Amino acid sequence: MNLILFGPPGAGKGTQAQYLVKKYSYYQLSTGDLLRNEIENKTNIGNQISEIIGRGEMVTDNIVDNLILNVIKNNKYKNKIIFDGYPRNIYQAKNLSRTLNENNQKIDLIIFLNVKKEEIIKRIEGRMVCKKCNNTFNKFTDKNEILNHQCGQNHMVKRTDDDVKTIIKRYDTYMEITEPVLNYYSSDVNFKEIDASLKIDQISSKIDDFVRV
Ligand code: AMP
Repeated sequence: MNLILFGPPGAGKGTQAQYLVKKYSYYQLSTGDLLRNEIENKTNIGNQISEIIGRGEMVTDNIVDNLILNVIKNNKYKNKIIFDGYPRNIYQAKNLSRTLNENNQKIDLIIFLNVKKEEIIKRIEGRMVCKKCNNTFNKFTDKNEILNHQCGQNHMVKRTDDDVKTIIKRYDTYMEITEPVLNYYSSDVNFKEIDASLKIDQISSKIDDFVRV
């Protein structure tokens, strides 16, 4: 099964993708993570995009299309992909269907994690990511989990685009460019909406119900 986790920044797409990776051995294709890797490794692409990401704007379609194509083409991940952060505009949604089709695959499930702006700001302001295992925590609500985390504290970082000004810009970009993608998918029989203001495990359990079908 290939699935899309769709929703605004901070909706919990990464957290739920991690849950599915552990439980079902899916592959998390996070375009944001792949782009941050490029920046960290100071590649050509990385140098081109670091300012764009820092401003909370979108990277050009061509760059992200190539990143997803590499994964879709790879037989190791065939029918096991969680799209996290892609598609982010109508063009990308159409490109995704076409690319999957050309590689004898399709989207089997689209999960929309719906959550309000105020909650998102609260979540992203506190977000901490373990660079080693990619798990996400909140420094306000997960103090104990962070203290006792299995990888230790040394890998725990805050994303540079997780400051309030950039969060608001990313949210506005989402509303303007990405939200229209909802209309593209909402009439699909495999489209499911979940209230993402619920607790993490409640959301996971709802996702489970859809994945198991
Ligand atoms: P994310 O980790 O999904 O919040 O993405 C972080 C940043 O990476 C976004 O604010 C964009 O600048 C960029 N990005 C991630 N995915 C895409 C995409 N599908 N299209 C364009 N830019 C993207």
